Amino acid sequence: MREGAEQSACPFCLLNDPDVTVFADALVQALVSRAPINRYHVIIVPRAHLERFAEVPAATMAAVVSVAQRIGSAIALAATPDGITYITDDDLTGRGYNLVAHWKLHVIARFRDEAVRIDWARTEDPGPTVRASLAADIRRHLPPPL
Ligand SMILES: [Zn+2]
Repeated sequence: MREGAEQSACPFCLLNDPDVTVFADALVQALVSRAPINRYHVIIVPRAHLERFAEVPAATMAAVVSVAQRIGSAIALAATPDGITYITDDDLTGRGYNLVAHWKLHVIARFRDEAVRIDWARTEDPGPTVRASLAADIRRHLPPPL
C-alpha cells in the first residue's frame, strides 16, 4: 500500500455509489464502470488503497476472485455475451497507464460483433532453452507469499 497525498485524493478510495454497486462487503466493492468498454463492464475494487496486483493480500485477492466468479456468472445471464474477459493492469511507471492508480479487476462481457479488441501481437517461440532461462530468471525474483 502506498501512502501520501495521492492516496487521499484517490477516487476509488472514496467510492460510494449504491445505485451502480453490484456487490460490496468489508474487503471489496464491485461497480458498473463509469469508463466502460461496453455496457456490462464491472470493476472489482479492494477497499484498501493498493496499486499493484502483487500488493493485494491473499485474503483480499481471494475475495476479489470469488466476487469475479459470481459477477461473471451474473453477466453471462444478464448480457448473454459470447465471452467474458477478466483483466487487470499494473501501472509500473506512474505515467498514467491506468486512469486511476487504485488496483482493480475488470470483468467485461464480450461480444463477437463489438469493436473491442485485445490484440496479442505474439512473437515466435524462443525455444525451450530460452524459455527455461526466462523461467529461472523469474524464479530468482519470486517474492515470498503475502
Ligand atoms: Zn485508492
